[in-house]
Formats: sequence, C-alpha cells, structure tokens
Amino acid sequence: MKPKPLPHVGPFTRPYWDAARESRFMLQRCRRCRQAIYYPRPWCPHCWSTELEWMPACGRGQVITYSVIHEPPSEAFVSEVPYILAVARLEEGPQMMANVLGIEPARMRVGLPVRIVFEERSGGFRVPQFAPAEEST
Ligand SMILES: [Zn+2]
Repeated sequence: MKPKPLPHVGPFTRPYWDAARESRFMLQRCRRCRQAIYYPRPWCPHCWSTELEWMPACGRGQVITYSVIHEPPSEAFVSEVPYILAVARLEEGPQMMANVLGIEPARMRVGLPVRIVFEERSGGFRVPQFAPAEEST
C-alpha cells in the first residue's frame, strides 16, 4: 500500500513538527496582540506582527463542522474510508482541520469535544489528529 504523505517542513513549521515528534502539541502566539495562531506561519493573521512565539497548547477543542470522506483523496487512504475530516475550535482560540480518529461516522456530531492524538507516519513523523474526548459534565 502507498504510504501516507509526510509534512513539508520549513523554517516556520519546524518547531511544530519537532514537537509533534515528541507527542507535544504547540501553537504559535502573537507577542503583540496575544492571540493564538494555527497553522504555523511567519506573521500574525490578526495584527500582521512578525513577533511570534511558540507555546504548549492543551490539545482540546470542539468540532464546529465535519465531513464524512467516502472517496479517498489518494491510494494511501483507501483502507481508511469512510473517515471523518473535521474543523474544531481549539480552546486557545484558533480553528484547526484534522481527521477524527476512532469514531464511527454515525456517532459524529457538531459540538463533539475532541483532543489531539498523534498519528505515526514514516520517518518518525507524528501528525496531530483529533480523537473524541471525554464529555465534561
Ligand atoms: Zn497579533
């Protein structure tokens, strides 16, 4: 079977992928306006400052929309379908798109609490994905 694609690591994304290799989930934060930022980039999308720093993130969020993927985007995902691609609002503020692992499509819903898990890829890469989190009462 064809292997899943690997991240493109560049100067602005290296800290993110290096942390993920150690199962740590990091976000950027703007030093000027203090907003958390996802995905990694060289400037703040809120105030355009280039004064960004990295911070550990809690890795929790809530699904705001999702899609059930039946048609694999490449040969590497043939054995995965159907799977869930979701956008979640992270507790730190930004939205993040990732697959939701370990859930049947019928159980999926908007508002589902999710947490970051790390999917192993070749070359030691670990890709942050979502998994259902315990509901807090
Ligand atoms: Zn900013």
